[in-house]
Amino acid sequence: MEIYLDHNASAVPEPGAARAAAEWLLGLGGNASSVHARGRRARGAVERARRQLAAALGVLPGDLVFTSGATEALHLAVLGSITRGDHVVASAVEHPALFGACAAAGAEVTRVPVDALGSLSTQSVLSAIRPNTRLVAIMAAQNEIGNLYPVRDIAQAVAPIPILCDAVQAFGKVPLRLPELGAALAVISGHKIGAPQGVGALHLAPGTALRPVIAGGAQERGRRAGTENVAGIVGLGEAAAAVPARLARMEAVRGLRDRLWAGLRARVPGLLVHGDPAAGLPNTLSFRFEEVDGDVLLAALDLEGICLSSGSACSSGAIEPSPVLRALGLDEAAARGGLRASLGPENTTAEIDRVLDVLPPLVHRAREAGLRRCA
Ligand code: PLP
Repeated sequence: MEIYLDHNASAVPEPGAARAAAEWLLGLGGNASSVHARGRRARGAVERARRQLAAALGVLPGDLVFTSGATEALHLAVLGSITRGDHVVASAVEHPALFGACAAAGAEVTRVPVDALGSLSTQSVLSAIRPNTRLVAIMAAQNEIGNLYPVRDIAQAVAPIPILCDAVQAFGKVPLRLPELGAALAVISGHKIGAPQGVGALHLAPGTALRPVIAGGAQERGRRAGTENVAGIVGLGEAAAAVPARLARMEAVRGLRDRLWAGLRARVPGLLVHGDPAAGLPNTLSFRFEEVDGDVLLAALDLEGICLSSGSACSSGAIEPSPVLRALGLDEAAARGGLRASLGPENTTAEIDRVLDVLPPLVHRAREAGLRRCA
């Protein structure tokens, strides 16, 4: 049986969301822009989902733009609101999609450092502001280490410069009402809350101007051309409607995460935890074992049917250590040790206990092999 501890990469599909998306696909379909009855049904399904998502986020349905996911939503937010040469301030631990969007927009970016615990101070963001700063990008929750950031304080401090908030990892894990963040632009992703992959949304606070990036159609009130992914959107609506139930299970998820944390601490010497998990997302634990490569452990765990992730990414054919762990001040070797366990409501105590049985001997063996190699 596979043990899945990689919910921050993609959550387990929410049954109601998967069913709704599948029913739509198996039904008669129709284009939401068509005026006939079938088209009107598709339009009705899209607008119902928009209302469901709006209710879950505490916003107006008309202020949401459906996209193919958060990567696209971040691109729409950045490319649609700044021009070449503008200055953007961003936390150093934003998702690569944000930095990619800034590069595509020709922006000059100041990355605001975090401290060794991954915390970000409002003052350090404020001191990065310049006369030509047009956007400040601060995520609500960090995907690797789980830290939560003071988006509201920062929005108030940098006003009237607009804030772009990547709320992808916060949505469905901690209570989230977008208006309380004070962000002009905010993005979410469907598959992080159990909706199908390939759907997400950008929220525009009332009064926020945006140029379309994809043109050639009047969909999404002219803000994002292209035939809507109705099945994905219907699934997103249902997953959003299930967010209160998901949140109600997060304390149990925290209990399992803490069981893993305490169990590893008790069983394996040299466990180091990254960020500030006790104050962060309830489901996320980023850690490393001294002298052990994270990708080696990842592969060994995979053979045991246990899915975790390391923050490393493949760039130009080489494995690069996690930029997020590097931003915490870890040197390259230490950052290569990083592993992330991200839990979801589907996990069980038995699964965590199995990880606690399997992982310590793997660490021991990896250390022995490493020492033998050095000898
Ligand atoms: N932002 C954060 C914080 C994420 O964790 C992710 C997904 O990994 C994204 C953005 C990109 O989301 P999507 O997969 O919907 O493009």
